[in-house]
Amino acid sequence: MKKSEMIAYKEKLQILRSRLRGDVHAMAEVALRKSGIEGNDSNAMPIHMAELGSDNFEQEFTLGLMEADEGTLSSIDAALERIHHGTYGTCAECEGVISKTRLNAIPYTPVCIKCAELQETNGNGTY
Ligand SMILES: [Zn+2]
Repeated sequence: MKKSEMIAYKEKLQILRSRLRGDVHAMAEVALRKSGIEGNDSNAMPIHMAELGSDNFEQEFTLGLMEADEGTLSSIDAALERIHHGTYGTCAECEGVISKTRLNAIPYTPVCIKCAELQETNGNGTY
C-alpha cells in the first residue's frame, strides 16, 4: 500500500477512535487540521472527500457507535500500530493483501476477507 493511502486510513482510524471514546475535541482537532492543510488548495477538498467515501464512512460509524467496545478500540490501536510499521493492509493470518473495499468498511480489520470468513466458520461451528 502507498504511504499516501496509509495516511488516509490513519486519519479515518484516528477519527473513529476519537468518536468511540466520545472525545469530541480530538475529532474537531483532526477535522480542523485536515481542512487547514487542504484549505490551501480550494479544489482539493471535494475530490479528497469523495476518494475516502467520507459520507458513507461517517454514516456507518455513527450507526455502529452503540456497539463500540474495548475490543474495537484495541483493534484500532493495533491498526494504527501496523500503519506505523508499514504493514497495514496486509493480512495478519495469511499475509495476503486486504482489499480496499474491506478496509473502507472496517479500517481496523487485521485479516483479509478469506481469513475472516474462515474464523467465522470456525467460531460458529464446533467451538
Ligand atoms: Zn488472510
